Amino acid sequence: MSNLERDPRETLCGGRREAGEGPARDLLTGRDVVLGGPRGMKVTRTLPNRDRRMVGAWCFVDHYGPEPATMRVPPHPHTGLQTVSWLLEGEVLHRDSLGSEQLISPGQLNLMTAGRAISHSEESPGETVLHGVQLWVALPDASRNDAPSFEHHPVLPVLDLPGVAVTVIAGELGGLTSPARVHTPLAGAEMAFDDQARVTLPVRPDFEYAALTLSGGVEADGVDLDPGPLLYLGSGRSELAFRARRPSRVLLLGGEPFEEEIVMWWNFVGRSHEEIERFRKEWSEGAEFGTVDGFDGAPLPAPALPATPLKPRGRHR
Ligand code: MN
Repeated sequence: MSNLERDPRETLCGGRREAGEGPARDLLTGRDVVLGGPRGMKVTRTLPNRDRRMVGAWCFVDHYGPEPATMRVPPHPHTGLQTVSWLLEGEVLHRDSLGSEQLISPGQLNLMTAGRAISHSEESPGETVLHGVQLWVALPDASRNDAPSFEHHPVLPVLDLPGVAVTVIAGELGGLTSPARVHTPLAGAEMAFDDQARVTLPVRPDFEYAALTLSGGVEADGVDLDPGPLLYLGSGRSELAFRARRPSRVLLLGGEPFEEEIVMWWNFVGRSHEEIERFRKEWSEGAEFGTVDGFDGAPLPAPALPATPLKPRGRHR
Protein backbone atom coordinates (compact mmCIF):
# COMPACT_ATOMS: atom_id res chain seq x y z
CA MET A 1 0.00 0.00 0.00
CA SER A 2 1.07 3.55 -0.53
CA ASN A 3 1.23 6.35 1.92
CA LEU A 4 -1.45 8.49 0.26
CA GLU A 5 -1.28 11.47 2.55
CA ARG A 6 -1.28 14.75 0.61
CA ASP A 7 1.32 16.31 2.83
CA PRO A 8 3.46 13.56 4.33
CA ARG A 9 5.85 14.59 7.03
CA GLU A 10 9.49 13.66 6.94
CA THR A 11 10.22 11.43 9.91
CA LEU A 12 13.58 10.51 11.37
CA CYS A 13 13.54 7.18 13.18
CA GLY A 14 15.77 4.53 14.66
CA GLY A 15 19.02 4.79 16.53
CA ARG A 16 20.31 3.25 19.74
CA ARG A 17 19.21 6.08 22.00
CA GLU A 18 15.62 5.45 21.05
CA ALA A 19 15.56 1.79 21.89
CA GLY A 20 13.24 0.62 24.60
CA GLU A 21 14.81 0.25 28.01
CA GLY A 22 13.22 -2.72 29.70
CA PRO A 23 9.58 -3.74 29.88
CA ALA A 24 6.93 -1.12 29.09
CA ARG A 25 3.15 -0.90 28.74
CA ASP A 26 2.64 2.16 26.55
CA LEU A 27 -0.64 2.46 24.69
CA LEU A 28 0.11 4.32 21.46
CA THR A 29 -2.96 5.90 19.91
CA GLY A 30 -3.08 5.70 16.13
CA ARG A 31 -4.26 8.38 13.77
CA ASP A 32 -6.92 7.88 11.13
CA VAL A 33 -5.75 8.36 7.57
CA VAL A 34 -8.10 8.16 4.59
CA LEU A 35 -6.57 6.47 1.58
CA GLY A 36 -7.66 8.22 -1.63
CA GLY A 37 -10.61 7.70 -3.94
CA PRO A 38 -14.37 8.10 -3.58
CA ARG A 39 -14.67 4.64 -1.99
CA GLY A 40 -11.39 5.11 -0.17
CA MET A 41 -10.50 3.13 2.86
CA LYS A 42 -9.93 4.48 6.31
CA VAL A 43 -6.82 3.14 7.98
CA THR A 44 -5.50 3.54 11.50
CA ARG A 45 -1.78 4.25 11.51
CA THR A 46 -0.02 3.41 14.78
CA LEU A 47 3.56 3.54 13.47
CA PRO A 48 5.29 5.87 13.05
CA ASN A 49 3.73 7.38 16.15
CA ARG A 50 4.43 10.69 17.83
CA ASP A 51 5.71 8.85 20.87
CA ARG A 52 7.46 5.93 19.21
CA ARG A 53 8.54 5.55 15.63
CA MET A 54 9.83 1.99 15.37
CA VAL A 55 9.55 -1.42 17.03
CA GLY A 56 12.62 -3.38 15.96
CA ALA A 57 12.84 -2.77 12.22
CA TRP A 58 9.02 -2.38 11.94
CA CYS A 59 8.53 1.24 10.92
CA PHE A 60 4.99 1.46 9.54
CA VAL A 61 1.74 -0.13 10.76
CA ASP A 62 -1.58 0.51 9.00
CA HIS A 63 -4.69 -1.42 10.11
CA TYR A 64 -7.84 -1.23 7.95
CA GLY A 65 -11.32 -2.68 8.16
CA PRO A 66 -13.27 -4.79 8.47
CA GLU A 67 -15.46 -2.73 6.17
CA PRO A 68 -16.75 -2.89 2.61
CA ALA A 69 -14.21 -1.06 0.50
CA THR A 70 -12.43 -0.99 -2.81
CA MET A 71 -8.67 -0.88 -2.63
CA ARG A 72 -7.15 0.78 -5.63
CA VAL A 73 -3.60 1.97 -5.08
CA PRO A 74 -1.93 2.99 -8.36
CA PRO A 75 1.74 2.25 -9.09
CA HIS A 76 4.01 3.97 -6.58
CA PRO A 77 7.67 3.58 -5.61
CA HIS A 78 9.45 2.23 -2.54
CA THR A 79 13.08 2.26 -1.39
CA GLY A 80 14.95 0.84 1.58
CA LEU A 81 12.09 -1.19 3.05
CA GLN A 82 10.07 -4.38 2.83
CA THR A 83 6.27 -4.32 2.59
CA VAL A 84 4.41 -7.03 4.49
CA SER A 85 0.80 -7.54 3.37
CA TRP A 86 -1.46 -9.58 5.64
CA LEU A 87 -5.21 -10.05 5.30
CA LEU A 88 -7.93 -11.27 7.63
CA GLU A 89 -10.74 -10.79 5.08
CA GLY A 90 -10.95 -10.06 1.36
CA GLU A 91 -8.40 -10.38 -1.41
CA VAL A 92 -5.76 -8.02 -2.81
CA LEU A 93 -3.95 -8.24 -6.14
CA HIS A 94 -0.32 -7.11 -6.14
CA ARG A 95 1.59 -6.18 -9.29
CA ASP A 96 5.15 -4.87 -9.37
CA SER A 97 7.91 -3.63 -11.66
CA LEU A 98 9.61 -7.05 -11.52
CA GLY A 99 6.59 -8.48 -13.35
CA SER A 100 5.13 -10.17 -10.26
CA GLU A 101 1.34 -10.54 -10.20
CA GLN A 102 0.01 -12.16 -7.06
CA LEU A 103 -3.41 -12.32 -5.44
CA ILE A 104 -3.30 -12.80 -1.68
CA SER A 105 -5.99 -14.29 0.51
CA PRO A 106 -6.27 -14.31 4.30
CA GLY A 107 -3.50 -16.27 5.97
CA GLN A 108 -1.03 -15.73 3.13
CA LEU A 109 1.95 -13.41 3.05
CA ASN A 110 3.08 -11.09 0.29
CA LEU A 111 6.55 -9.78 1.07
CA MET A 112 8.04 -7.19 -1.26
CA THR A 113 11.65 -6.18 -0.73
CA ALA A 114 12.19 -2.78 -2.30
CA GLY A 115 15.96 -2.74 -1.94
CA ARG A 116 17.25 0.18 -3.98
CA ALA A 117 14.05 0.70 -6.02
CA ILE A 118 10.75 -0.98 -6.90
CA SER A 119 7.24 0.13 -7.83
CA HIS A 120 3.95 -1.70 -7.33
CA SER A 121 0.16 -1.41 -7.39
CA GLU A 122 -2.46 -2.99 -5.15
CA GLU A 123 -6.15 -3.43 -5.79
CA SER A 124 -9.05 -5.47 -4.53
CA PRO A 125 -11.12 -7.34 -7.11
CA GLY A 126 -14.23 -5.13 -6.79
CA GLU A 127 -15.89 -3.93 -3.60
CA THR A 128 -15.62 -6.47 -0.84
CA VAL A 129 -15.15 -6.58 2.89
CA LEU A 130 -11.49 -5.82 3.47
CA HIS A 131 -9.66 -6.35 6.71
CA GLY A 132 -5.90 -6.39 6.99
CA VAL A 133 -2.65 -4.75 7.84
CA GLN A 134 0.04 -3.15 5.76
CA LEU A 135 3.41 -3.19 7.47
CA TRP A 136 6.84 -1.90 6.52
CA VAL A 137 10.17 -3.23 7.71
CA ALA A 138 13.19 -0.93 7.36
CA LEU A 139 16.19 -2.50 5.64
CA PRO A 140 19.61 -2.09 7.26
CA ASP A 141 22.32 -0.26 5.37
CA ALA A 142 23.99 -3.56 4.41
CA SER A 143 20.99 -4.65 2.30
CA ARG A 144 19.05 -1.53 1.46
CA ASN A 145 20.79 -1.12 -1.91
CA ASP A 146 20.24 -4.74 -2.96
CA ALA A 147 18.19 -5.62 -6.02
CA PRO A 148 14.42 -5.67 -5.38
CA SER A 149 12.59 -8.97 -4.91
CA PHE A 150 9.13 -10.36 -4.24
CA GLU A 151 8.03 -13.42 -2.26
CA HIS A 152 4.62 -15.02 -1.82
CA HIS A 153 4.20 -17.47 1.04
CA PRO A 154 0.85 -19.29 0.91
CA VAL A 155 1.78 -21.46 3.92
CA LEU A 156 3.47 -20.27 7.09
CA PRO A 157 4.52 -22.08 10.27
CA VAL A 158 1.82 -22.26 12.94
CA LEU A 159 2.34 -22.83 16.64
CA ASP A 160 -0.73 -24.77 17.78
CA LEU A 161 -1.38 -24.16 21.45
CA PRO A 162 -4.55 -24.92 23.45
CA GLY A 163 -7.11 -22.34 22.28
CA VAL A 164 -4.52 -20.28 20.40
CA ALA A 165 -2.96 -20.63 16.94
CA VAL A 166 0.12 -18.48 16.36
CA THR A 167 1.10 -17.96 12.72
CA VAL A 168 4.69 -16.79 12.35
CA ILE A 169 4.58 -14.25 9.50
CA ALA A 170 8.14 -12.93 9.63
CA GLY A 171 11.20 -13.68 11.73
CA GLU A 172 10.89 -16.04 14.67
CA LEU A 173 8.65 -16.75 17.61
CA GLY A 174 8.29 -19.68 19.96
CA GLY A 175 10.95 -21.72 18.19
CA LEU A 176 9.37 -21.36 14.73
CA THR A 177 10.85 -19.31 11.91
CA SER A 178 8.99 -17.85 8.93
CA PRO A 179 10.39 -18.69 5.48
CA ALA A 180 10.10 -14.99 4.55
CA ARG A 181 13.52 -13.43 4.00
CA VAL A 182 14.25 -10.69 6.50
CA HIS A 183 17.43 -8.70 7.10
CA THR A 184 17.45 -7.96 10.83
CA PRO A 185 16.46 -10.13 13.83
CA LEU A 186 12.67 -9.83 13.77
CA ALA A 187 9.38 -11.26 15.04
CA GLY A 188 5.96 -10.88 13.41
CA ALA A 189 3.02 -13.14 14.19
CA GLU A 190 -0.76 -13.31 14.15
CA MET A 191 -2.36 -14.94 17.17
CA ALA A 192 -5.89 -16.35 16.79
CA PHE A 193 -7.55 -16.85 20.17
CA ASP A 194 -10.62 -18.86 21.13
CA ASP A 195 -12.89 -17.14 23.64
CA GLN A 196 -11.18 -16.95 27.06
CA ALA A 197 -8.00 -18.65 25.80
CA ARG A 198 -4.77 -17.85 27.62
CA VAL A 199 -1.23 -18.16 26.40
CA THR A 200 2.22 -17.33 27.71
CA LEU A 201 4.67 -17.05 24.81
CA PRO A 202 8.43 -17.33 25.19
CA VAL A 203 10.07 -14.17 23.82
CA ARG A 204 13.61 -12.81 23.50
CA PRO A 205 14.85 -10.35 26.13
CA ASP A 206 17.01 -8.60 23.50
CA PHE A 207 13.93 -7.86 21.34
CA GLU A 208 11.39 -5.11 21.87
CA TYR A 209 7.74 -6.04 21.24
CA ALA A 210 4.35 -4.47 20.56
CA ALA A 211 0.84 -5.88 20.18
CA LEU A 212 -2.12 -4.73 18.09
CA THR A 213 -5.59 -6.22 18.44
CA LEU A 214 -7.12 -6.74 15.00
CA SER A 215 -10.47 -8.13 16.18
CA GLY A 216 -12.09 -9.06 19.48
CA GLY A 217 -10.39 -7.93 22.66
CA VAL A 218 -7.60 -9.28 24.84
CA GLU A 219 -5.57 -8.61 27.92
CA ALA A 220 -1.95 -8.27 26.89
CA ASP A 221 0.50 -8.30 29.80
CA GLY A 222 -2.47 -7.33 31.97
CA VAL A 223 -3.50 -4.37 29.77
CA ASP A 224 -6.93 -4.30 28.10
CA LEU A 225 -6.26 -4.11 24.38
CA ASP A 226 -9.10 -3.55 21.91
CA PRO A 227 -8.74 -2.73 18.20
CA GLY A 228 -7.19 0.75 17.83
CA PRO A 229 -4.01 1.48 19.74
CA LEU A 230 -0.64 -0.27 19.55
CA LEU A 231 0.58 -1.54 22.91
CA TYR A 232 4.35 -1.06 23.18
CA LEU A 233 5.71 -3.74 25.51
CA GLY A 234 9.40 -2.82 25.55
CA SER A 235 12.29 -5.26 25.91
CA GLY A 236 13.98 -7.34 28.61
CA ARG A 237 11.21 -9.92 28.80
CA SER A 238 11.46 -13.69 28.50
CA GLU A 239 7.71 -14.26 28.18
CA LEU A 240 4.52 -12.44 27.28
CA ALA A 241 1.07 -13.36 28.60
CA PHE A 242 -2.23 -12.88 26.76
CA ARG A 243 -5.82 -13.66 27.69
CA ALA A 244 -8.71 -13.39 25.23
CA ARG A 245 -11.90 -11.74 26.51
CA ARG A 246 -13.66 -13.03 23.38
CA PRO A 247 -12.59 -14.70 20.14
CA SER A 248 -9.74 -12.45 19.00
CA ARG A 249 -6.95 -11.88 16.53
CA VAL A 250 -3.82 -10.09 17.66
CA LEU A 251 -0.72 -9.04 15.76
CA LEU A 252 2.55 -9.32 17.67
CA LEU A 253 5.52 -7.37 16.29
CA GLY A 254 9.06 -7.39 17.63
CA GLY A 255 12.70 -7.26 16.83
CA GLU A 256 16.15 -6.22 17.84
CA PRO A 257 16.14 -2.43 18.31
CA PHE A 258 17.09 -0.88 14.96
CA GLU A 259 20.41 0.86 15.46
CA GLU A 260 20.58 2.96 12.32
CA GLU A 261 18.83 6.29 12.00
CA ILE A 262 16.53 6.41 9.02
CA VAL A 263 14.55 9.11 7.27
CA MET A 264 11.03 8.17 6.16
CA TRP A 265 9.07 10.30 3.75
CA TRP A 266 6.06 9.29 1.62
CA ASN A 267 6.95 5.80 0.38
CA PHE A 268 10.69 6.10 0.76
CA VAL A 269 13.08 5.06 3.49
CA GLY A 270 16.52 6.67 3.20
CA ARG A 271 19.27 8.05 5.36
CA SER A 272 19.16 11.78 4.63
CA HIS A 273 16.94 14.53 3.29
CA GLU A 274 19.18 14.77 0.20
CA GLU A 275 18.72 11.08 -0.54
CA ILE A 276 14.94 11.40 -0.23
CA GLU A 277 15.06 14.36 -2.63
CA ARG A 278 16.96 12.18 -5.10
CA PHE A 279 14.43 9.30 -4.80
CA ARG A 280 11.59 11.74 -5.41
CA LYS A 281 13.30 13.15 -8.48
CA GLU A 282 14.03 9.66 -9.84
CA TRP A 283 10.39 8.64 -9.41
CA SER A 284 9.21 11.79 -11.19
CA GLU A 285 11.57 11.08 -14.07
CA GLY A 286 10.61 7.44 -14.34
CA ALA A 287 13.54 5.18 -15.11
CA GLU A 288 14.89 3.89 -11.79
CA PHE A 289 11.66 2.37 -10.51
CA GLY A 290 10.60 0.44 -13.61
CA THR A 291 6.99 0.14 -14.70
CA VAL A 292 4.01 -1.86 -13.45
CA ASP A 293 2.24 -3.69 -16.27
CA GLY A 294 -1.46 -4.46 -16.11
CA PHE A 295 -2.70 -1.66 -13.86
CA ASP A 296 -5.42 0.39 -15.52
CA GLY A 297 -4.44 3.93 -14.60
CA ALA A 298 -1.64 6.41 -14.11
CA PRO A 299 1.11 6.07 -11.48
CA LEU A 300 0.88 8.14 -8.30
CA PRO A 301 2.78 11.41 -8.47
CA ALA A 302 5.01 12.18 -5.50
CA PRO A 303 3.73 14.97 -3.24
CA ALA A 304 5.83 18.09 -2.73
CA LEU A 305 8.72 17.76 -0.33
CA PRO A 306 8.46 19.72 2.92
CA ALA A 307 10.57 22.85 2.84
CA THR A 308 11.61 22.60 6.47
CA PRO A 309 14.97 20.90 7.03
CA LEU A 310 15.09 17.69 8.99
CA LYS A 311 15.36 17.94 12.72
CA PRO A 312 16.87 14.71 13.98
CA ARG A 313 14.69 13.25 16.70
CA GLY A 314 14.68 9.98 18.57
CA ARG A 315 12.11 7.27 18.13
CA HIS A 316 10.95 7.97 21.65
CA ARG A 317 9.72 11.51 22.03
MN1 MN B 1 3.25 0.29 -1.39
